[in-house]
Amino acid sequence: MEFSEMQRLVSVNSKRYVEKHGIEVTTEFLLLKLMEETGEFAEALGICEEQCRLDKRIDPAIARDNLQNELADVMTVVMAIANHLDIDLVAGLENKVFKKGRRSLEEASKE
Ligand SMILES: [Mg+2]
Repeated sequence: MEFSEMQRLVSVNSKRYVEKHGIEVTTEFLLLKLMEETGEFAEALGICEEQCRLDKRIDPAIARDNLQNELADVMTVVMAIANHLDIDLVAGLENKVFKKGRRSLEEASKE
């Protein structure tokens, strides 16, 4: 799936969420959601790695699925922030990450 399609689907889901819950999407709201989802991811990671209370431990396969879903939630909110602020996330990744990755691969291939 193309990243732009993912961003479009995130936008559709955001609009549905807003309509369902009557929430005004502001930058502050999205930052709160990012913190909320980051916390949920951290909790899921603790459970997955059994770094949690005994009563929170669950089947490892279920814990792994939960971890995957919570990281997807974090990425979804990051994409929603990009949509809200009209940020081209792919261009940002290209400038900040991908160029360096390609350069590292080129350097490694010369060694
Ligand atoms: Mg979540």
